[in-house]
Amino acid sequence: MMIKTVLGEMKAEHLGVTLPHEHICCYSEYAYRMAGTAYLDKSALTQTAIGYLKELNKQYGLTTFVDCTPINIGRDVELLKRISEQSGINIICSAGFYYTDEPVLYHITEDRLFRYIVFDAQAVNAGIIKCAVEQETISRFQEKLLRACAKAHLHLGLPIVMHSNALNRNALNALEILFSEGVKPNAVTVGHLSDTDDLEYVKSIASYGCYIGLDRLLANQSEEYISKKAKSIMELCRAGYQDQILLSHDALFFNGFEVEPKICERPRYSYCFDHILPKVPKALSNKLMVQNPMRMLACQ
Ligand SMILES: [Zn+2]
Repeated sequence: MMIKTVLGEMKAEHLGVTLPHEHICCYSEYAYRMAGTAYLDKSALTQTAIGYLKELNKQYGLTTFVDCTPINIGRDVELLKRISEQSGINIICSAGFYYTDEPVLYHITEDRLFRYIVFDAQAVNAGIIKCAVEQETISRFQEKLLRACAKAHLHLGLPIVMHSNALNRNALNALEILFSEGVKPNAVTVGHLSDTDDLEYVKSIASYGCYIGLDRLLANQSEEYISKKAKSIMELCRAGYQDQILLSHDALFFNGFEVEPKICERPRYSYCFDHILPKVPKALSNKLMVQNPMRMLACQ
């Protein structure tokens, strides 16, 4: 099975230690065009990212980084290529869309949107299709995006990674839409489930066979948070979902949507290695950081 990265294709079994939901940066393309380096210094960002990714490789054996930034929140594939080339870390980039509705998307038909996603995915060699639902009720606009992403997945065979809001439990409705298009559960990661302590909800999603993204681990050093997260991983394993758990941080070097956007030297990408993995059995670490992301990326 071959996996698409920003630099080409590679064998799934060579992906190694993988962070399955992170970002190099998210930003507004028009703010960048307006203010240039006063908003985002891409060469400084590139150097910072190369340095820290190399360090993560040395310290934790990190070899693959899945960048879940879709095009409408600042995916810059040339930037990702430079960082991948010079850091030696495989970077997988996203096609698809974030949930923010923009004028250009209002009147576009589902079919045209599908064709645009396919065209874009092929142009940048995307390895995943990102979609996103935030509100509790899924609007007709959101539904159009979900259906277009589902069709693009069926056409391209790339996995779907879905941003969801675990607090209003909206993934269940979104999954119903994806499944109605013929998407198989093992092709879908439901993201941001680490935002909730409601394990029954997480299990209800796992019971479909989807990947469950505990992918927003915070940089919280408190013993209480760490043991709660480790315990929920163990409980999900006991319930039989050990092959579906994905750990990541949803962290970034630059978030252009903050009040004072600035480059972060050391985003929390190492948190799960430092704090969570030491709390779980050693054999499980390999499953969580190597095997599960590999199968997710291969839609298996
Ligand atoms: Zn994200």
